[in-house]
Amino acid sequence: MRIFCASIATETNTFSPLRTDFSDFKESFYAPPGQHPVTPTLCSAVFTEARLRAAKEGWELIEGTATWAEPGGLVNRETYEQLRDEVLGQLRAAMPVDAVILGLHGAMVAQGYLDCEGDLISRVRDIVGPDVIIGTSYDPHSHLTEQRITNADIIVAFKEFPHTDFVDAGRSVVDLVLRTLRGEITPTKAVFDCHMIEVLPTSREPMRSFIDRAKAMEGAGDVLSVSFIHGFMAGDVPDLGAKVIVTTNNDPAKANELAQKLGHELFGFRGTTRPSFVTADVALDQALASDARPIVLTDVWDNPGGGVPGDSTILLRAAMERGLRDFAVGTIWDPMAVRICISAGEGATLPLRFGGKTGAHAGAPIDAEVRVKKIRRDSWQYFGDSIVPLGDCAVIELPGGGEVILNSNRSQSFDPSLFSNMGIDPTSKKYLFIKSTNHFYDAFAKIAGEIIYVDVHGPYPSDPKTNGYRHLTRPIWPIVDDPFAAIAS
Ligand SMILES: [Zn+2]
Repeated sequence: MRIFCASIATETNTFSPLRTDFSDFKESFYAPPGQHPVTPTLCSAVFTEARLRAAKEGWELIEGTATWAEPGGLVNRETYEQLRDEVLGQLRAAMPVDAVILGLHGAMVAQGYLDCEGDLISRVRDIVGPDVIIGTSYDPHSHLTEQRITNADIIVAFKEFPHTDFVDAGRSVVDLVLRTLRGEITPTKAVFDCHMIEVLPTSREPMRSFIDRAKAMEGAGDVLSVSFIHGFMAGDVPDLGAKVIVTTNNDPAKANELAQKLGHELFGFRGTTRPSFVTADVALDQALASDARPIVLTDVWDNPGGGVPGDSTILLRAAMERGLRDFAVGTIWDPMAVRICISAGEGATLPLRFGGKTGAHAGAPIDAEVRVKKIRRDSWQYFGDSIVPLGDCAVIELPGGGEVILNSNRSQSFDPSLFSNMGIDPTSKKYLFIKSTNHFYDAFAKIAGEIIYVDVHGPYPSDPKTNGYRHLTRPIWPIVDDPFAAIAS
């Protein structure tokens, strides 16, 4: 038995002022055949899980390229075609194979390609023919298109947001592909379109219980797999929105029935799933009146994990204007300012312009007389057990005493280690300003006296009603109050 695997992944914010090319993939993660590390990255867990099973069961795994770029703007056409053709060339060379397993993110958009993953999977299908099994794994913040559904046999997405279960999803795809190849199961899948876009954290109700129930359904009776695509509101594509995928063992009617049932239930959660997001003014009032410490204020939309630059100064400026002093900011992306700080050296005082440089909606740059408190080449933070690079970083001290970490590699704030690795004890500060929608939660909840989710109107297209989608033509909530009535009429 011979199985080919590959992974091409990024999340494209089509509204972002950034653009993505090969250097972004190389900077984040690029592993040619045989060079995938022993630990999985988010979307490449199919590699490590397939290796385990191949070693145990004695079949042959042929590894193609695995690559990932930090979420950003539109992908350069040549870059997408180059990565795609690299993987397709590896697959052709590996033929004949019994199965292909692809670790995808599912929200990649390139110049001329609204559905990169659909394009990739259909080309894989053209090469392998109708009888070879194709298994795919996705991040739930993705778009599920007809081209992907018809060309893949197995579709699995991470169930948790924060994505603490990405290894489980990789394991599930590999297992379902192997069982199919051995004739133990005949996967039959159904997809239900929920016609909505919503933020769906599973760290809180009602999603927590819903996901626990879905997990319990897997393996019970003929239900093989249940997955949910949450959708990604910053991707202007025709298939934007939440969808349910149910795979049963040779029972399409059951798959269809369950997908519809769960889909309507998920649709019923609209408007109830988010923690309360408050404006910057309300957040600062709340923080100033609170005795808790540290108070974590997360800028939920200026989250580089959603493809924006992460250099917004809006919340920091508001905090400075309100006279906050005992705070640390982790982080503001500004490689140019980091470079100037490195040239100045630790301990130097200089007039510095930082942040707010990449677009019109992230606030103006801040000009201040700052002291360079700490420099660190190639700093990093944890995300669970994995290490996330932050690039060269500088801690600057503002005239009022607040401290700001400037970073060179864009990343959202995952873990308090981003502060401690830069010499800041996060528990010693009254206020911690971070940039993340929900992935920060697991690690920061352990040290936070209070968490405030701040809804700053900035560069992220956070309101579907006013985002001005051009490619989305299906009716979806909240743009349409009752999308199912709109379809019926
Ligand atoms: Zn995601």
